[in-house]
Amino acid sequence: MSVLHEVVNPATEDVVTTVELLDAAGTDAAIARAQSVAKAWAAVTPADRARLLRRFAEAVDGAVEELAQLEVRNAGHTIGNARWEAGNVRDVLHYYAAAPERLFGRQIPVAGGLDVTFKEPIGVVGVIVPWNFPMPIAGWGFAPALAAGNPVVLKPAELTPLTAIRLGELALEAGLPEGVFQVLPGKGSVVGQRFVDNPGVRKVVFTGSTTVGTGVMAGCAQQVKRVTLELGGKSANVAFADADLEKAAATAPYGVFDNAGQDCCARSRILVERSVYEKFLGLLEPAVQGVKVKAPGAEDAEMGPLISPAQRATVRSYVEEATEPVDVAFRGSAPEGPGYWYPPTVVLPRSASDRVWREEVFGPVVAVLPFDDEADAVAKANDSEYGLSGSIWTRDVGRALRVSRGVEAGNLSVNSHSSVRYSTPFGGFKRSGLGRELGPDALDAFTETKNVFIATD
Ligand code: NAP
Ligand code: MG
Repeated sequence: MSVLHEVVNPATEDVVTTVELLDAAGTDAAIARAQSVAKAWAAVTPADRARLLRRFAEAVDGAVEELAQLEVRNAGHTIGNARWEAGNVRDVLHYYAAAPERLFGRQIPVAGGLDVTFKEPIGVVGVIVPWNFPMPIAGWGFAPALAAGNPVVLKPAELTPLTAIRLGELALEAGLPEGVFQVLPGKGSVVGQRFVDNPGVRKVVFTGSTTVGTGVMAGCAQQVKRVTLELGGKSANVAFADADLEKAAATAPYGVFDNAGQDCCARSRILVERSVYEKFLGLLEPAVQGVKVKAPGAEDAEMGPLISPAQRATVRSYVEEATEPVDVAFRGSAPEGPGYWYPPTVVLPRSASDRVWREEVFGPVVAVLPFDDEADAVAKANDSEYGLSGSIWTRDVGRALRVSRGVEAGNLSVNSHSSVRYSTPFGGFKRSGLGRELGPDALDAFTETKNVFIATD
């Protein structure tokens, strides 16, 4: 039995539309449909599969503005971000469209014959997407999975299904065969759980919270099902005294408040060398107050609302409703009235054991602490169960490299806050995840290596 879900605009609280949520039986039927086309999709010639992916990319390119406007309404993303996100889906499709014709195996020297390896498709891939970046995270899963010859079933987050549904339509319009790429709106506990439990799905790509991801991994283990996990983060932004402090402070808000802080790569812990701690805070305050928090459709909006009232309640539980005292240093502004708004907020923890310093808030809240020297900076940055991203600000090249090698995280940037490029690997250390997405090696996560020996004697 299917259920109707109201999709709400988080900036206005208006109902955008209603979406039918799939039940377990409907999910199983879709998985069976995907299985039934798996052989045919794997058999499409490399050049034709590449061409279909390029056509899909072009269809997305033609719909960038439509997709972006949809994301503004569904997720409250700023229009600037939403255009980048739709463009990212196009670019990731183009990038992996080059893969079918370059899915090289190896020829390995052995005695008595020829030894070659093949990269075989795995089978049906289930992609589970969170609400914070509905388009890019979907694309990072489905583009390489399709390129490697696997059918895909994709479950968007319950709160943000609209762009994924549109991407599913665009795939069909571009000529992808029926059943090769199916978008299945529904609850995580129903549709997502079937991806884990139904043996017809051979690989799960999960992005979301560490708690749910841990359960997905345990469920997949029952079938030794392949799994990639992209989970939470509590990334450090480390500013040394020798850095361009003006630039470090001016950009720090954008390293954490982008997407209203609902970003797994958010640099939500700022570590500042003690000798410049007060100076840095002095520079940070006007930068935070300058963040333009407004209706996300406005061309100059830099931050929109949180996704839901529940998310806002979670954020408040770390600040004004926290069980332990939290000192707010200063705040930016946010609109009044309808919408799940929360202002950019800077807090000063009393110790490194405070909840707001240790846990992922997933909202526009950043905590700042001083450090004493390089060793202390690395130790404090690593004092976290997470290890997704981080930034290092220094003019000393040797220190930049030493600290980059010392910080236990998958994606670091020096003198910038960049995390994601589709041509470079992305993923986490420790409880931030398992495996890597994007870049040249992502195909390995969507193929099985087969070794074949052919006797010549
Ligand atoms: P979530 O609750 O873990 O949900 C993520 C996805 O999993 C949603 O589609 C959800 O469906 C689904 N799900 C829920 N229960 C499931 C189950 N039992 N089996 C299978 N799927 C299930 O996370 P969220 O609240 O959407 O997103 C916030 C979290 O994601 C944050 O912790 C953030 O750091 C993390 N995140 C990480 C990355 C990364 O790349 N590392 C990127 C984005 C977000 P429903 O929507 O129906 O609940
Ligand atoms: Mg959730």
